[in-house]
Amino acid sequence: TTVAVVRETVAGERRVALTPEVAKKLKARGARIVLQDGAGASAYFADAAYADCEVVAATAALEQAEVLLKVQPPSLDEIAALQEGAVVIAHLQPHLAPERTRALRDRKITAFAMELLPRTTRAQAMDVLSSQAAVAGYKAVLIAAEAVPKFFPMLTTAAGTIRPSKVLIVGAGVAGLQAIATARRLGAQVEGFDVRPETKEQIESLGAKFLDLGVSAAGSGGYARELTQDERDRQQQVLADHLKGIDVVVTTAAVPGRRAPRIISAAMVAGMKPGAVIVDIAAESGGNCELSEAGKTVISSNGVSVIGTVNLPASAPVHASEMYARNLYNFLELSLKDGALNLDWNDELIAKTCLTHAGEIKHEPTKQLVE
Ligand code: NAD
Repeated sequence: TTVAVVRETVAGERRVALTPEVAKKLKARGARIVLQDGAGASAYFADAAYADCEVVAATAALEQAEVLLKVQPPSLDEIAALQEGAVVIAHLQPHLAPERTRALRDRKITAFAMELLPRTTRAQAMDVLSSQAAVAGYKAVLIAAEAVPKFFPMLTTAAGTIRPSKVLIVGAGVAGLQAIATARRLGAQVEGFDVRPETKEQIESLGAKFLDLGVSAAGSGGYARELTQDERDRQQQVLADHLKGIDVVVTTAAVPGRRAPRIISAAMVAGMKPGAVIVDIAAESGGNCELSEAGKTVISSNGVSVIGTVNLPASAPVHASEMYARNLYNFLELSLKDGALNLDWNDELIAKTCLTHAGEIKHEPTKQLVE
C-alpha cells in the first residue's frame, strides 16, 4: 500500500500528518510512503529526517496515494488529483463544506473523518479530538497568563505578598482538564465547572475547586447535552456573580454537532474586573462568550480582553503532530496486514468513522445535510 503525505495548505496550519518516527513504523508494517517535499518543514521535520519515505512533488504524491494522510480536510483540487477509490484519513469537518463531501463521494473516495471516531476505550489511542484538545487547553492558559496584567502564582517578596490570580476554566473535557492542570502548575488559584457531574471529581483531583452552578446535564456517549432555558438561566445567574472576582477565564465548552454553548454574556463581561482576560477556545465554533471573535482580541468597554483563539494545536506543531501522527497510525494499523490494506466493515471504529465509501455518503447526518 502506498501511503501519501502532502504539505498542509490551510493558512496558519503548521502540523503534519506523519512524523519520521511514525513513518518508520508504517514502513515496518509493509507500507510504501511518498512524502511531498517540505511536508513536515513547518513542524521542524526536515525532508532528510524522513529516511523511510520517498520525497516527491505534490502531484506525484497525490496521484500515487492509495492512502492519503492529512491534518486539515483535502481541498477540492487535492480530491480531484487522487485516484478513484483512494482512502483519505483526516479531519473532514463534513458539516462545514457540503461540496467537499460531494466531491469525495463522486470520486468514490473512502474518506475517514477522524472527528467521527467513537469515543470508546479501544479508540483512545486513535482519538485526534483528545490529543489535539490537550494541546489547545495547555496553550490557552499560556496565552491567558501572557495577557493578564498580573502574576499567576502567589509570591512572597520583600515588596510584600502578591495574591495568586483567580482562574476559572469553563468546561472540563479534555481541553478543560489540561487547562486546569496547566494553570495549577503556574501557581494560580483555579476553579472549574462543567455540566457533567463526573467532572467534579476530575477537577478536584487536579487540585482545583469545582464551581457548583447547580446544573447537571449529562447527555449520551459521555458528552454533555444542550441545556434547557431554565437550566441556562440558573447557570447564568450564579456565574454572573462569581465572575466579578475572577482574573482569567478559559472557556472550552462544546456540545457535539451543535454551535458552542453561549455561557458568558456581554453583561457578565461588563461586570468583570478591568484587566481580566477571557480566552475562548470555542471561538471558531461560535464562541462560549458573546463578545468572542475568532482570530481577534476584543477589548470590552470596561477593559476586559476577550481573546478568540483559532487552531491552537497548530501553535505547538511538534508535539501536536507527534500525537496526531500516532493517532492516525493506530487507526490505520487496524486495516494493515503485511502491507496490504484490508478494511473490516464489521469493526465499528472503521464503519462509524467512515464519511464516504464507494460513491455513497455513509454518515447519516451528513447525508441528510448534503443530499
Ligand atoms: P467536548 O469538547 O465535546 O466538550 C468540552 C466540555 O464542555 C465537556 O466536558 C462538556 O461536558 C462541557 N460542556 C458542554 N456544555 C457545557 C455548558 N453549558 N457548561 C459547561 N460545560 C459544558 O468534550 P471532550 O473534551 O471531547 O470530551 C468529553 C467527554 O468525553 C469526557 O468525559 C471525556 O473523558 C470523554 N472522552 C472519552 C474518550 C474515550 O474514552 N475514548 C476520549 C475522549 C473523551
